[in-house]
Amino acid sequence: MNILKPIDLTKILKNKEEPNDKENKTLKDMKKMVEEASKIAIFTHESPDGDAIGSTLSVYLALKQIGKEATMYMPEHSRLFDFLPGAKEIKTELNENEQFDLAIALDCSDLKRLEGSEWFENAANTIVVDHHGTNMMFGDINFVNSVSPACAQILITILEYFEIEITKEIGTCLVTGILTDTGGFQYEGVTPETYEFAGELLRVGVDIPSISARVLQTRTMPNFELLKKVANRMELFENGRIAFSYIDEKDEEEVNAEAGDHEGLVDVGRSIEGVEVSIFLRQKGEEGYKASLRSVNKVNVSDICYLFGGGGHPRAAGCFIKGNLEQAKNKIIGETKKWMD
Ligand code: 5GP
Ligand code: MN
Repeated sequence: MNILKPIDLTKILKNKEEPNDKENKTLKDMKKMVEEASKIAIFTHESPDGDAIGSTLSVYLALKQIGKEATMYMPEHSRLFDFLPGAKEIKTELNENEQFDLAIALDCSDLKRLEGSEWFENAANTIVVDHHGTNMMFGDINFVNSVSPACAQILITILEYFEIEITKEIGTCLVTGILTDTGGFQYEGVTPETYEFAGELLRVGVDIPSISARVLQTRTMPNFELLKKVANRMELFENGRIAFSYIDEKDEEEVNAEAGDHEGLVDVGRSIEGVEVSIFLRQKGEEGYKASLRSVNKVNVSDICYLFGGGGHPRAAGCFIKGNLEQAKNKIIGETKKWMD
């Protein structure tokens, strides 16, 4: 494969994102832990999004570059990301007795949401890299930066510390994480480094326009069918400032939905003029509904989700709500109303 010249990340990171003393110590410990490990596994959160998958693959490819084989584990993921380098190497199953001497968790705030947490917990050493403010610091080493717009953006600092070359392949995975978590460099979490890094990636041949087209502008047919249902059922509350919609399991069966086909449906409500909070519920078995919340520019939805045992970011968060549709809907709308002013 065509490996292009390394990016001069030192130039980008020197002034703005140079790790502080504490981060430098963490990076040093992390490097030692990685160097000493021979059996490494990479884990991420359930229902993995572009940042989860992009971060996982970039770490996998980076480790490979320094001569370390790693196992990636995701029971399922959206086929929209199958084009990414290394995606075919993702394992959907792991042997029950498998034992790793290093487990790395990416883009995941707590063990409860980590797919494969049992192997993570049994590993001799663990590293957590994440950008959720609600991170529980569940690793031996935790590198968490809640102002970073994507886990993939934090990895740039780490890769540069490890002196790993950001190849076209690694850059493709990293930018996928950044693009999906920032809605295409749009959300308020973006930093100057986000754009500078994108510029450098273009220079090494990463095809950002076609990656954007694939991960931001393409819908699977089931996702489009679900979107129609979500739009038809949209309800507005609080003078049009809260949007609410949902899908249940029957809807997903009807359209033959596969992993990831519900992604992005919460954005339909957010796009309506005047809406500040968009709420989307997705049925998960008899027990209840998974809630996705988005806000436009004011309400901290992470605080709302935290009350239900979930979390996330100020403008994008989630939680699980027990009960039938009516109950779950009343609970989440009732709580959200309290946070509107
Ligand atoms: P989504 O609505 O796309 O599932 O998630 C939005 C954001 O909230 C993501 O950053 C995701 O990791 C986080 N998130 C979603 N559900 C939960 C949850 O149940 N617990 C926690 N801690 N974070 C969540
Ligand atoms: Mn993320």
